[in-house]
Amino acid sequence: MKYCSDCAHPVSVQIPKDDTRERFVCEQCGTIHYQNPKVVVGAIPLWDEGKEAQVLLCRRAIEPRYGYWTLPAGFMENNETTAEAAERETMEEAGARVEMQALFSLLNVAHVHQVHLFYRARLLDIDYAAGTESLEVKLFTESEIPWDELAFPTVSHTLKFFFTDLAASRTGGKFGFHSLDITKSHRSHE
Ligand SMILES: [Zn+2]
Repeated sequence: MKYCSDCAHPVSVQIPKDDTRERFVCEQCGTIHYQNPKVVVGAIPLWDEGKEAQVLLCRRAIEPRYGYWTLPAGFMENNETTAEAAERETMEEAGARVEMQALFSLLNVAHVHQVHLFYRARLLDIDYAAGTESLEVKLFTESEIPWDELAFPTVSHTLKFFFTDLAASRTGGKFGFHSLDITKSHRSHE
């Protein structure tokens, strides 16, 4: 941040009185510009009508990680709930209609100031289509998942948790809730 969004005066970095962290401070109007983590929300759209269960992935048409596969996900907007954000991103990126289910994973990515949340979701039909942020959208069985071409560690961890729980659910087990802290060393191409 270079300029105050309230008065356009240049900001400086200071530790405000009674604070312990450096903040962008405007010395003209006195505004302290706090910066906090962003929430990324996505869905795990499942099609379980065929012989083998399949999950819908999108191949990214945008940076970062152009050309890599991801679950539909994106930044939460103001005035929406996390489930609404996941449903919206699934429609925008994959043109897919889903019935939202339970929250499934929470991944802290502290070094990039993000929290990622993924919901389980049931695909209502397979008339999906790539949105402007996707090159293609495709259903994958567990063995078809392009593990080496996934865009983000939060997606690969969520898919691993998901297929483990899906297998367990076939033998009377249940889907759980999974949380994980992704550290910088985790970031290599998982
Ligand atoms: Zn100002």
